[in-house]
Amino acid sequence: MTALLELRGVSKTYGAGAAAVPALHGVDLCVATGELVAVMGPSGSGKSTLLTIAGSLEKPTTGEVLFDGTPLSGLSPNDRARLRRRHIGYVFQDFNLLAGLTAVENITMPLELDGLKAKQARKEGMRALEELGLADRAGSFPDELSGGMRQRVAIARALIGQRRLLLADEPTGALDSDTGEGVMRLIRSACRAGTAAVLVTHDAQLASWADRVVFVRDGLVVDTSSSFEGPESLLSSDGEPER
Ligand code: ADP
Repeated sequence: MTALLELRGVSKTYGAGAAAVPALHGVDLCVATGELVAVMGPSGSGKSTLLTIAGSLEKPTTGEVLFDGTPLSGLSPNDRARLRRRHIGYVFQDFNLLAGLTAVENITMPLELDGLKAKQARKEGMRALEELGLADRAGSFPDELSGGMRQRVAIARALIGQRRLLLADEPTGALDSDTGEGVMRLIRSACRAGTAAVLVTHDAQLASWADRVVFVRDGLVVDTSSSFEGPESLLSSDGEPER
């Protein structure tokens, strides 16, 4: 299997001196093309930091991140920006939608920035909205949408345009369980088409969609078992609430 994403000995410390907050300690992680990896662990354990470093939104303090075998530290800022725009889809908890753009414009903006003609981009954007049951809200602005709808727009934006890596932080958090399952089906089908995905979740039910579950505790990856069984035992040992 080819590793699309590889973290090698990644450590991250926020701040310096007396204010230094260590977030990750020497994390190694490989995610193959087409693989869906769930990341679980208690609050504050470093899951979001892992995701932002994997997506080249933050640099590791030490260690290296490789995308398709290329070390990110060797890329120019422009090349890193192009990689993020073209190949990586993000779904973060605050959705990061642009308030001045409609739902479909939010989705198609990365495609247009990348040179796709507006008409073609819109066609792809509408298809993505249809898959998420939101076609009738294409012209709505983010503040006219419910939390769950905004989340689906963010997911459509992350999945559009054959991204090679999808990074999602609690992507189904604001959704009811049926819509949440629908989102997982979409992510799974993107993976079948070759997208690698890393999904942070507290939800053992959602983690069961993954090929592999990685457990993070105190900035360390403590479980990378390839056959994951018994999420409940991991969670209960930690006192995390089950949903
Ligand atoms: P999780 O996603 O598992 O809740 P985080 O990656 O958000 O964990 O946080 C790991 C640790 O790093 C925590 O102690 C958190 O307070 C700290 N941290 C996260 N982001 C920042 C930041 N931007 N500045 C300072 N500390 C941070």
